[in-house]
Amino acid sequence: MGKPTGFMEFGREPAHVRPPLERVKDWGETHPGYEEATLRDQGARCMDCGIPYCHSGELVNGLAMGCPIHNLIPEWNDLVYRGQWREAIIRLHKTNNFPEFTGRVCPAPCEGSCTLGISQPPVTIKMIENEIIERAFLEGWVVPEPPLSRTGMKAAVVGSGPAGLAAAAQLNRAGHAVTVFERDDRVGGLLMYGIPNMKLDKSVIDRRVKLLEAEGIDFVTGTAVGLDIAAEKLVKEYDAVVLAIGSTVPRDLKVEGRELAGVHFAMEFLVANTRALLGGPATPVSAAGRDVVVIGGGDTGTDCVGTAIRQGAKSVVQLEILPRPPETRTADNPWPQWPKVYKVDYGQEEAAAMWGADPRRYLVNTRRLVGDGGGHVKAIETVEIEWVHAPGGRLEMNECAGTEGSLPADLVLIAMGFTGPAPELPAAFGCKLDHRGNIVHDDDFMTTTPGVFAAGDCARGQSLVVWAINEGRLAARAVDKFLMFGESVLPDYLGGGAPATAIRWHTGPIGDLRAEAEPDQRVGAAQRLHGPLPPLPVEAEGGDLRRRSGPEDALGRHLSVFVAPLHLASRLAVEH
Ligand SMILES: Cc1cc2nc3c(=O)[nH]c(=O)nc-3n(C[C@H](O)[C@H](O)[C@H](O)COP(=O)(O)OP(=O)(O)OC[C@H]3O[C@@H](n4cnc5c(N)ncnc54)[C@H](O)[C@@H]3O)c2cc1C
Ligand code: SF4
Repeated sequence: MGKPTGFMEFGREPAHVRPPLERVKDWGETHPGYEEATLRDQGARCMDCGIPYCHSGELVNGLAMGCPIHNLIPEWNDLVYRGQWREAIIRLHKTNNFPEFTGRVCPAPCEGSCTLGISQPPVTIKMIENEIIERAFLEGWVVPEPPLSRTGMKAAVVGSGPAGLAAAAQLNRAGHAVTVFERDDRVGGLLMYGIPNMKLDKSVIDRRVKLLEAEGIDFVTGTAVGLDIAAEKLVKEYDAVVLAIGSTVPRDLKVEGRELAGVHFAMEFLVANTRALLGGPATPVSAAGRDVVVIGGGDTGTDCVGTAIRQGAKSVVQLEILPRPPETRTADNPWPQWPKVYKVDYGQEEAAAMWGADPRRYLVNTRRLVGDGGGHVKAIETVEIEWVHAPGGRLEMNECAGTEGSLPADLVLIAMGFTGPAPELPAAFGCKLDHRGNIVHDDDFMTTTPGVFAAGDCARGQSLVVWAINEGRLAARAVDKFLMFGESVLPDYLGGGAPATAIRWHTGPIGDLRAEAEPDQRVGAAQRLHGPLPPLPVEAEGGDLRRRSGPEDALGRHLSVFVAPLHLASRLAVEH
């Protein structure tokens, strides 16, 4: 703790955002940078708590408490206060492969759990995270870190969202050859084509992808697994497969008039807009000059509001079926849970600046979409609702008589969430889905098909970037163990237990070789899915090296284990 009195001396610095009426004129990010002195003061506010709730990352009553990837927040707060930025990025990268994504778009459950938040505004953790990584890029400290050796194992990752990218980065770091398959034309998943530019500029994704490529990851875009390349081919050619295909099936609005022109899923609108901004064709779904109604009050709905405003919408209304959240925590939502309180996000702030009021209307249900007689939507019929407890405690929606209304709408955007991954691909891999339509996996992220793993929204349901990164990292560790005889050099869920750059051949006995290993020997294990190991280097055969061929496992894989003195062990690591 750099400054014991910091939290008493300095207040929380409000987020520096460009004024709403200025930023709606362009697609640039809403946040400019911060002065170094400001950041040091903000770092000094951290109390270095004995139990840092900010870093705990647990689910309590279904709500996140603390950082899901267990960022070492008090450590880097302190380092920023001391001006030790390089050490700060080393700490940050220990638990987070992509702080430049979370630093921009994470809703920051860490801040909701910060102890200072009990009596004062919490530490500005997210702002500090983003500034650490941006400073590191600026100083040239973020460079490719390819693995020192390769294992000879091949892993395929399907989907290049944050879960797929994190899994790929970690597996590559462990020395496996990684290929990422992405059906879209660009890498990034919802980071690229969901979250709009003003929240996350696309150059930020490209910058990271270039680093991953330089570390040795192969990206194959424009290739839908299951269509352009068969699932069986992947299973045959790769030693493990990670499915990170996201939750992409949108929840539909089942009302009269749904078929009218001008009624679109949010993603049709957002994806087309980003494509156009990246040099693609002009968007076919424009809000310019239109009365826009967004159905859904979540992140996706907010992004539709911000995008519609920038396209030149005439008016924007956002309908939410739930009640307006309270201004402060309620008794059943205590600290350190995620605070379910009223928040104004960038889109609502901009709409208020344009038209004088928050665009959200709470407790409103859509009854019918009305056409103009020519097949295009022209209005939306609504009714106010209330939530009541039905017998058995279940909440039920009641329409309130006499509250029927109508809103002009010549563009209706449905942002009501997602129901799960497209089921065809899991089916092609023989993976079971749960009752919510998500891919089932065990505690080691393995699906019901051996050797096929799942991570991110396709398995946990629609969630957040930070959880996707967390699952990608954990799935990579599980795959590494699967490929390497139950051992992994990748960090565990707390980010510990492994060096930043992995050397696959490590000191110490493994399994039944415990008795044979000498103190100065390295012992390694290697599995091959297809056929025996290639011949050993000639000079390695004989006295110094012992190779043990284990039995085939349940999947028919051949397992070989080596015991070798240090110099040969490292050599083998490179050649195999
Ligand atoms: C509009 C919007 C805004 C959001 N804003 C935020 C935010 O501000 N903060 C936040 O934390 N979270 C936000 N989220 C949620 C967040 O983006 C997701 O939780 C996260 O991206 C999930 O990551 P993922 O890797 O599991 O899946 P995705 O990011 O969905 O990536 C899945 C990838 O798999 C690819 N794929 C699917 N099928 C195949 C196939 N057969 N072959 C090859 N590739 C395939 C897809 O093309 C996609 O690129 C937002 C979501 C949306 C929709
Ligand atoms: S909970 Fe808040 S004050 Fe405590 S260590 Fe974490 S960031 Fe610092």
